[in-house]
Amino acid sequence: MVLVSGKELLAVAREHNFAIPAYNCGSGQLLNATVKACEETNTPFIIAIHPDELSFLTDSFVAQCIDEAHRSRLPIAIHLDHGGSYEQVIHAIQLGMTSVMIDKSLAPYEENVAITKKVVEAAHAVGVSVEAELGTIGNTGNTVEGGIEEGIYTEPEVAKDFVEKTGCDSLAVGIGTSHGLYPKDIKPKLRIDILDDIVKAVDVPLVLHGGSGNPDSEIAQAVTHGINKVNISSDIKIVFAEKLREELNDGNSEKREPNVLFPEPMKATEKVVRQKNELFGAVDKANYYFN
Ligand SMILES: [Zn+2]
Repeated sequence: MVLVSGKELLAVAREHNFAIPAYNCGSGQLLNATVKACEETNTPFIIAIHPDELSFLTDSFVAQCIDEAHRSRLPIAIHLDHGGSYEQVIHAIQLGMTSVMIDKSLAPYEENVAITKKVVEAAHAVGVSVEAELGTIGNTGNTVEGGIEEGIYTEPEVAKDFVEKTGCDSLAVGIGTSHGLYPKDIKPKLRIDILDDIVKAVDVPLVLHGGSGNPDSEIAQAVTHGINKVNISSDIKIVFAEKLREELNDGNSEKREPNVLFPEPMKATEKVVRQKNELFGAVDKANYYFN
């Protein structure tokens, strides 16, 4: 179909009670695998690019993503994940991204409000939507997204104040998830009760980050209770890396062509993408965007 803004994608998800998957496409292989699996399942989705991924891939990668979106029959948004500054966000907008996240959740509240508001003013002037973050998402280490060691739960009343003051289009909330995978002895628990209170308090779609370590049943429950965007990063990268390791260690030292090394890791990625699309209730939802 076309390139759409994050706001357009999430509005339909909110109306029909499902979640848009946002896949961190940190390489061309992850991008192609994601697009293929979403095409096969008729799933509207977001291509997410973290600033660290962008600096690795270089700016021209965004042009490739835009071209993918224009060739696709799906509604697709291209999103800056965890923008760290006003300058980073403006750069992403200049490259043609249709959605940006400004994450000042670790800064003092008033500073988070002020920077988010400034980003919203600039982004809205050119039709780009803004995701902000309040309360923090924990970090288990070894991910580009970062975070702090223990997540802080978002307070519903503060969320209401924050959305009203900043005018952000969606909000990433802290309800007990962490970026990356949890150590085996830690069992994360989502606080659905807090999510319910935030849903009641604010009038924008809510976003879940860092759900890799949570069981599928909890993620599905969060979607049912009002999460309209789920970020997926570690889950696709883990299977890609595992398969690639197998390819490299299979005893054939002559294996070197990318078109020989990467197809199996890409197939493994596609499988996870199809599963996530199903889990979020997003399969076949591209139909809702066609008039
Ligand atoms: Zn995140």
